[in-house]
Amino acid sequence: MAVCEVCGNDYEETFEVRAAGAVHVFDSFECAAQKMAPICENCGCRILGHGLQADGRYYCCANCARMQGRMELADSV
Ligand SMILES: [Zn+2]
Ligand SMILES: [Zn+2]
Repeated sequence: MAVCEVCGNDYEETFEVRAAGAVHVFDSFECAAQKMAPICENCGCRILGHGLQADGRYYCCANCARMQGRMELADSV
């Protein structure tokens, strides 16, 4: 039994995610994504799949990267 650190739900089947030496507890992937997923610098959506990263900034797709002047980035899928 643990409490989701995003929504506070006290749930039997919570799971842990380890990232950068810290352990996070969530009750659902939706809550995990809300906490862990980076946000696209251009359109503001959460990046759940293969995003693009440049200089610590994240983009959901090559199109968004280009919109921010990142011409060198291309979709890896
Ligand atoms: Zn939750
Ligand atoms: Zn985007």
